[in-house]
Amino acid sequence: MRKEGVFHIATIGGIPIYLHWTFGFLIIWIVLSALWSSGGDWGYAGWRLLLVGGLLVSVILHELGHAFAAAAFQIPTRDITMYPFGGVASIEKLPEKPTQELVIALAGPLVNFLIIGVISAGLFVSGVSWEGDMGYYFGLQRLTGADYFFQLAYLNFLLAAFNLLPAFPMDGGRVLRAILAMRFPYEKATAIAATVGQVFAGLFVLLGILGNIILILIGFFVYIAAESEKKAVEGRSALKGLRARDAIMVQYPVLPAMATLQSAIEALLGSQARSFLIVDPLGQPVGALSREKLISALHQGMPPTTPITQVMDERLITVEPDTPLGEVMETLQREDVPFILVAEKTGSTPRLLGLIDAENIAEYLLIKKAREAFASSIVP
Ligand code: ZN
Repeated sequence: MRKEGVFHIATIGGIPIYLHWTFGFLIIWIVLSALWSSGGDWGYAGWRLLLVGGLLVSVILHELGHAFAAAAFQIPTRDITMYPFGGVASIEKLPEKPTQELVIALAGPLVNFLIIGVISAGLFVSGVSWEGDMGYYFGLQRLTGADYFFQLAYLNFLLAAFNLLPAFPMDGGRVLRAILAMRFPYEKATAIAATVGQVFAGLFVLLGILGNIILILIGFFVYIAAESEKKAVEGRSALKGLRARDAIMVQYPVLPAMATLQSAIEALLGSQARSFLIVDPLGQPVGALSREKLISALHQGMPPTTPITQVMDERLITVEPDTPLGEVMETLQREDVPFILVAEKTGSTPRLLGLIDAENIAEYLLIKKAREAFASSIVP
């Protein structure tokens, strides 16, 4: 799957690792602040960059810790993306049991403690004194290799400690939710953990106002992330018990495979359609065409006579009517397809019953909510 605004830097254990373009800002900021504080000492700036490099590797290893722990529970990781504020390992689905979430959440900080252990062992074996020269923090003298690893170990400690704060969605918050979920329903556990996270977010902002802009930004980030996790869990619980057949669209816009770009645009303008199912002369589905695809084809300057089969998306995902709606929603988001086909297996050829898209699921939920509100209003 394509990702935008990122650079592919490595693939480890089958997991692609990306660097987000905003990471460039961090590098520029590190160099400028090092030059500023050292009065233009490029050697010192290089030193700070090396330290950022070591930190980057540490965070990637931390995320791989989450990914490999998830893999132990048969949960694949789609990718790891590094942002200036940290890394994100996108695991494909949420762990089913609280104990699994607990293990996956703890695996990241555990890696940082392992790194500290390895560095300590290395320094011990090489006979470096533990005193270390903390002068590098304040002064600008040249630093030794031992100082570098000493500081890298210290940064790993900060990383683990910060991640273990019970501020959802950081690792500590996930640990808190997992522990709460052993006692309460999942939605309630998430709501409590997210609220605790938002209290911490408020504290970060307050502390940040005393002089640390980064802490203010992290506070906002944590607050928003906690809120969206709360919403996501509410959404999933709203879909609980529902099947694909519940939200199916039996009437959907269709275009023949021999249609041209021009006729697709006319069909788009002349209807409320968000996307089209492309069918061959026998009525068999061959592709999907979204509004976004059509518009990007125009942007690329494709001639109006272009056959629609050259623009459409050939990936068609089919589910059965009994597939849980939550799963359908997740597939829609993960695969970035305009809709999913619902087909019934009767005999040799599956029979197409209809389509589902994200908007239809949202509409179905709104109607369901309105009906429930009406029902409770007449039966107090
Ligand atoms: Zn983590």
